[in-house]
Amino acid sequence: MTTLANGTATLGPITSPHSASAALRADDQPRLFQRVREQMDRAAEAIDLAPEVRKILASPACEVSVTFPVKMDDGRIEMFSGYRVQHNNVLGPFKGGIRYHPDVSIDEVRALAAWMTIKCALVDVPFGGGKGGVQVDPTTLSRREVERMTRRFVYALGANIGPGYDVPAPDVNTDARTMAWIVDTYAATLPPQERYRALAVVTGKPVSAGGSVGREKATGQGVVDLIEMWAPDNRCKISDLTYTVQGFGKVGSWAARILKDKGAKLLAVQDATGAIRAHAAEGLDADALATHVKKTGGVAGFPGAQAISREAFFGTEADVFIPAALEDQVTAETARLLKVRLVAEGANGPTTTEGDAVLTERSIAVLPDVLCNAGGVIVSYFEWLQNRGGAAWNAAEVDQRLKEILERAYARTKEMAAEKSLDWRSAAYAVALRRIEQVYAERGIFP
Ligand code: GLU
Repeated sequence: MTTLANGTATLGPITSPHSASAALRADDQPRLFQRVREQMDRAAEAIDLAPEVRKILASPACEVSVTFPVKMDDGRIEMFSGYRVQHNNVLGPFKGGIRYHPDVSIDEVRALAAWMTIKCALVDVPFGGGKGGVQVDPTTLSRREVERMTRRFVYALGANIGPGYDVPAPDVNTDARTMAWIVDTYAATLPPQERYRALAVVTGKPVSAGGSVGREKATGQGVVDLIEMWAPDNRCKISDLTYTVQGFGKVGSWAARILKDKGAKLLAVQDATGAIRAHAAEGLDADALATHVKKTGGVAGFPGAQAISREAFFGTEADVFIPAALEDQVTAETARLLKVRLVAEGANGPTTTEGDAVLTERSIAVLPDVLCNAGGVIVSYFEWLQNRGGAAWNAAEVDQRLKEILERAYARTKEMAAEKSLDWRSAAYAVALRRIEQVYAERGIFP
């Protein structure tokens, strides 16, 4: 444990940049992170990437692991484990969300951090890749307990996050309110004269507390923008599409609500509470469903829909499937059940390696996560710019700039896929790796 100049006690990085792989302990089997490495390797081979770049990206630059006490409502003290993995920052400050979930592990956070490195490089925003998480089921805590846990986690991270260094954002089970608590706690650790800097320590804040308009819907908006680009390339119109969604949280519900405005039809939804299918020919009303989920905590029991099995959900015939929940959902088994033309990955890592192979074999197209869900981090970048420049953009400006960035990333991925005869996931990685390779070539390696 080290004590920083600002008085914040923190457990420093548990690994140094050159010893990260040695830190892959036996109890932290690199399963998800191994998948990212394999995905990077496939793309690296296709473009003959400089071997040193592959070597650098094979391990996270820095990992922070903390355990910290939280006072519960009944006066008990509980200990929590949290992580912040900083994968690579050659393109800019580490960037990526913080999630609260019982399945959070160092392996998962490593993979998520590496996906952020690829995502930011692919869409060409000047950030590196980071990710954080606390291993907790937040539904078992009161709001006040979640707040105290958040504040203690931020305090424990100390100077390992910062506006020009590592900038967290919302992820699974965290939101704008969580980000507001983070700003407030982080500001309290700075000397009074420095506190003006605190706003840019996280993105995804409430608009009234320094957030950007359009950030809340940004990931869902990006998913829809990309489906809208994909459609004419595949001889269809977005207004004619039918689709299914897994997960009706921040990403899934916003994607569905925006797709509704475009005329696309929502046929079935699955979340942790169950799966439902539309009774009526016009499909499910995404706005009414979002209200129901807010009230009841899940899609189960939504009036006007029938409960269906998991198999029936995956087997629903539609044009597009949007996984917008957690990792490992499109497996060899579920990929065989799918009757869709496109999988648009709103979640991070929803498709396993085996699932990918089945999708390819069945000629089901994929808009890979690093492209498809990049809308969130792109508007996070806009928020960060606004905070640092003291500016406020309007909604039209945010939407327009988001679309332009995604159009460029879509075009680059499409071009790479054609040039190297790659699937879209590998093509997206290849574009990102080229970008990172270019910067390493220009900057060299210190000393
Ligand atoms: N958690 C989101 C993601 O996985 C957003 C990250 C960010 O905005 O920094 O892309």
